[in-house]
Amino acid sequence: MCVIICTKMIYLDYAATSPLLPEVREAMHRAEERFFANASALHTPGHLAMNEVERARELLAKLIGAEPGEIIFTSGASESNNAVIRTFEGHQIETSPLEHHSIIETARVCRGDKLPKLYSYMLANNETGEILDLVEVVKRADKNAVVDCPEMFEVKNDWGKPLVTVKKSGYVHSDLTQALGKIPLDVKALGVDYATFSAHKIGGPVGVGALYVRKGVPFKPLIIGGNQENKRRGGTYNTLGIIGFGAAVEYVLREKTWEKYGIKVRNLRDRLAERILAEIPGSSLNTDLAPGASLPNILNVSFRAAEGESIQLYLDAEGIVVSTGSACAAGDTKPSHVLMAKTGDAEVAHSSIRFSFGLENTEKDVDRVMEVLPGIIDRLQQISTIS
Ligand code: PMP
Repeated sequence: MCVIICTKMIYLDYAATSPLLPEVREAMHRAEERFFANASALHTPGHLAMNEVERARELLAKLIGAEPGEIIFTSGASESNNAVIRTFEGHQIETSPLEHHSIIETARVCRGDKLPKLYSYMLANNETGEILDLVEVVKRADKNAVVDCPEMFEVKNDWGKPLVTVKKSGYVHSDLTQALGKIPLDVKALGVDYATFSAHKIGGPVGVGALYVRKGVPFKPLIIGGNQENKRRGGTYNTLGIIGFGAAVEYVLREKTWEKYGIKVRNLRDRLAERILAEIPGSSLNTDLAPGASLPNILNVSFRAAEGESIQLYLDAEGIVVSTGSACAAGDTKPSHVLMAKTGDAEVAHSSIRFSFGLENTEKDVDRVMEVLPGIIDRLQQISTIS
């Protein structure tokens, strides 16, 4: 019989997807009955649904320090990333090799040589948890320089009047998908023009995300259709998903989850790291544990002469769920592009495991991992042809 049914599953893959929070499930369940109507419709059920969409928008705006009108709901972080990069099609686009594929691959096909230039840098990496220096990027974007760029798309108000008054030479986008709820965030303090979010990384449903578009910066809709989202994203509102996202945001705000991650979760993560280093020969960390250097919930470790996929499967058989590199690249046998960019060492990349914690994890989970992991690594190292 399935191990997951017989024993308690230890879930350490929150960075891939976090389970739905109970209050999110409840909010969505209630919404199914009450807010089923098309939120754009003029009738009463439509208005009721739209009120809920706007409430979720206000909550997210509050959490990230934005105005509600600066938030566009999307189908997830991949769409948000695509929308920003595609806005700058034919223009200069600078990203780092650590970005998610939805940035790297879109930038590869959209990149041109016209100004203005987009700088797209994530604040926190999904594989190693590394926190990057966005302040330096924002400075480099030379935010005050004004250039003439008439070919850029502009945000227009309802009467077709451009809202862009100052055209800058550099704009900054940051994929904040992994950072949301884990560390304090304020898009104005960060100084970014665009920012990406996804509900399923904070206990909300899969298939809904958001994009922060600072008032007055260029934006070209990725999905052209109806007038939804103030003409910035066509498509019937995913009311249920947005309500679920809103409920997850409400939880993050109420619980100040970044404080809990910063203490409780960081302690668990660091305890696992210390024990791995002390008890497993050939282990090395790909995550810098120093305060401020990484998100508190991610630990990436390489085990010499043991293959990541094999470790994952052996742990899975023990009811312990982790991932190798990024889940988005699952089935892809290439080494993680992030670890390759960081280390240049294919063996380190191939032998890596990402443990990502959530608020539900306990010390017992760490103890259970350490009951089985040393034996698994030892067995794999014994049969390995790599010395
Ligand atoms: N960006 C980052 C940093 C991510 O971790 C992920 C999810 N792996 C995404 C984008 C894509 O998110 P979504 O599933 O919402 O499209």
